[in-house]
Amino acid sequence: MTYQVLARKWRPQQFDDVVGQEHVTRTLKNAIAENRVAHAYLFVGPRGTGKTSTARIFAKALNCEKGPTPTPCDQCDACREIMNGTSMDVLEIDAASNTGVDHVRDLRDNARYTPVRGPFKIYVIDEVHMLSTGAFNALLKTLEEPPAHVKFVLATTDPQKVPPTIHSRCQRFDLRRISTTVIADSIGKIAKAEGVDIDQDALLAIARGAEGGMRDAQSALDQLISFIGKKIREPDVLSVFGLASRSALEDLAGAVLTGDIPQIIQRITELDESGKDMQRLVIELLEYFRNVLICMYAPDASDALDIPEAQATKLKEQAATSSPGRVLQIVQILTDAEGRLRYALSRRTLVETALIRSARAATVASIDEILKELNALKASLGGAPSAPVPSPAAPAPTRTEEKKAADATAPKKKSADVAEKVATPPASPPPAPSPPSPASAKLSGEELEAERHRLYAHWHDLTEQVGHVAPMADKYLMDAKPLRVETQHVTIGFDPEFESSKENMEMSRNRAALQRVLSRFLHRDVAIDFKIMDSSDTLPGDIKLPEGHSHAKKKEETNVPMEALTAEQKWMREPAVNRTLEMFNGEIIDIRE
Ligand SMILES: [Zn+2]
Repeated sequence: MTYQVLARKWRPQQFDDVVGQEHVTRTLKNAIAENRVAHAYLFVGPRGTGKTSTARIFAKALNCEKGPTPTPCDQCDACREIMNGTSMDVLEIDAASNTGVDHVRDLRDNARYTPVRGPFKIYVIDEVHMLSTGAFNALLKTLEEPPAHVKFVLATTDPQKVPPTIHSRCQRFDLRRISTTVIADSIGKIAKAEGVDIDQDALLAIARGAEGGMRDAQSALDQLISFIGKKIREPDVLSVFGLASRSALEDLAGAVLTGDIPQIIQRITELDESGKDMQRLVIELLEYFRNVLICMYAPDASDALDIPEAQATKLKEQAATSSPGRVLQIVQILTDAEGRLRYALSRRTLVETALIRSARAATVASIDEILKELNALKASLGGAPSAPVPSPAAPAPTRTEEKKAADATAPKKKSADVAEKVATPPASPPPAPSPPSPASAKLSGEELEAERHRLYAHWHDLTEQVGHVAPMADKYLMDAKPLRVETQHVTIGFDPEFESSKENMEMSRNRAALQRVLSRFLHRDVAIDFKIMDSSDTLPGDIKLPEGHSHAKKKEETNVPMEALTAEQKWMREPAVNRTLEMFNGEIIDIRE
């Protein structure tokens, strides 16, 4: 006996076997039972959701010797021929490989002849959006005046590309992506019947990988059986399809929500090194944060979550730690990254940057929180609060808005006692932010490592700033990483494949722009070195923030005489400025006296 692929062997033969598309099959069954069959249908839906399977069942239902009937017998010659693809009355055309007008003319001519066996001639045109304009026009003529014995089923994954004139002549059905749990159930039944030992986690992983397509899930099971055998567990599925494990996703999402950047970098390094597909990772994270949003807005709508109960519990815990405005920002950043990922030279760098930006969006103060803080600050100074706090639904601020707010609150006078008052918070004072380091002092290894971490966390913003001064430089820097920070040098590393980006950055204009931005960011003058990374270079995944380094630094800083400080460093000594920077998670970018 020849081996038959599972997708074929388990192709649904009755309307009731089509999984997840009851809204379509029920309507078709009724139409057949009540003899109200339209002459043309358009099936729209993602790949592998059952469009052609439904079309074939529909053809059997019409041409079965016991029909037309909503439950074709699968025994008669007509049914069997259709199942084997040998029926003269059911013609399947793949528009993707037959785009030309000639083919459609043949079809039109052929349609005039009466069917060979059954009452109807049924044309199934798959991927109909691929037809040429000429072919569409030829098809349109047939659709306008079809012979009574002709039925059309057009199928497409891309309805936008099907002309409206075709749309208007068809009855349209939208086949949905099939939910993960439904796919897992269905694949589980097939596995059982095939004598495959597979656990629930592995089934869910297959379903996740199939992205709503039953056929893809069945093919995946097929592949797994041939690669691994008849005992399949989750790690097998993950490794074969380059998927991240559910727990890795949970950890990564958790790190984003809590703003744990070192953890994000470490996780991405692990996933990248174990060969996970970065594009899939971003898609899955998007799905994850969508579920977090559902937990926030509709905590009782567990159906919409489409994940098992245990995972939903974890998700709800995470949702409780954040706010919808922040999660929406994360979704925005990830959507943007997903669009660019296809063209990215270094996917890992892009994903890392996107997640770090997401982490900052998740933890940066929102506008209502800022206003609350401002009012509290005002109250502590003896003034009555004036600005009303907006509803929690207010959108989170952009960075420039925060900057403006920060500027507006910066003291106009350098009066020390006013500054002291401002600096005395009503309750538990926050820890002092890390002050700038004077160029003369030699920084400790720990401090430099912390700076490298900070540089890495702000890398995207910094490259953007460079791009404002030296257009294109930001693009070259997207392929780079801050590799080493020394007291007077910063080394920027490029992967060997981006040697041309390195060469471009070495041009004096680009180098100078980067040097200016980094010197300003580090509050001291640094020279820039570029290098191609090799295996001896540690990646920022190894970065850990040293504990209590800010205290150590503060002590050192107070020993530096006032005259030796830059204007920025002097301002940083102002408690009010420090307090404002801390409150807004900000940094000084400009001083106007
Ligand atoms: Zn039959």
